[in-house]
Amino acid sequence: MSGLDKSRQHVLLQLSEALSVAGRRSDTCQLIAVSKTFPASDVRELYACGQRAFGENYVQELEQKHAELADLVELEWHFIGPLQSNKTRSVAQIAHWVHSVDRLKIAERLSVQRPVGLPPLNVLVQVNVSGESSKSGCLPDEAAALCRAVVALPGLALRGLMCIPEATTDELQLAQRFDVMQHLLTDLRAKGLSVDTLSMGMSADMALAVQHGATMVRVGTAIFGRRHYPDA
Ligand SMILES: *Cc1c(COP(=O)(O)O)cnc(C)c1O
Repeated sequence: MSGLDKSRQHVLLQLSEALSVAGRRSDTCQLIAVSKTFPASDVRELYACGQRAFGENYVQELEQKHAELADLVELEWHFIGPLQSNKTRSVAQIAHWVHSVDRLKIAERLSVQRPVGLPPLNVLVQVNVSGESSKSGCLPDEAAALCRAVVALPGLALRGLMCIPEATTDELQLAQRFDVMQHLLTDLRAKGLSVDTLSMGMSADMALAVQHGATMVRVGTAIFGRRHYPDA
């Protein structure tokens, strides 16, 4: 077993333990392997081990890896980074999911630019759950209105919500953030929207997010190791 496979297996084990503790079925939370800054060869290696869903933050990197890995037909690309309106086109063409829709303009562009032969792009509305002004995401109060607007766009399929809480080791605070998200999703359902996805939890807080209803966790470091940013 390679190092990458081993760390992925370890994460999958943690995930199934967290699900079991939460009294949830083992197939109710999907692992998104966040491959940003790591080479396409790592993605290929994990694909060979059975991993299908990969997350990327940067449009150019997504484009490059998509081109290099075009032969992996079951690979599912999740775009999870901040999205500027002049960069939406290739995301609309390449991605299967976008987790980071936080304003209508971005949603409209993605919808118009989604190629006609493809199924609607799966979309999550990103919520700025910690209220930090530096963070992307709409305010919790704005989420329902944005979701309704996304539902009306033919190129998109609204699936649910995503958040990136503030970096903190305070578990109570994080639990509170995840709880807000869980309630927001319930609230959307009560408003008649059919949503099934809550994308929250990363390497450090995956188990906590699962306790609060996460159906997708986005894990980078725990699988690939520490990232080295070229621009850092
Ligand atoms: C980088 C990133 C992750 C992965 O974070 P880790 O702490 O490395 O697991 C998850 N979600 C988003 C939006 C990210 O940018």
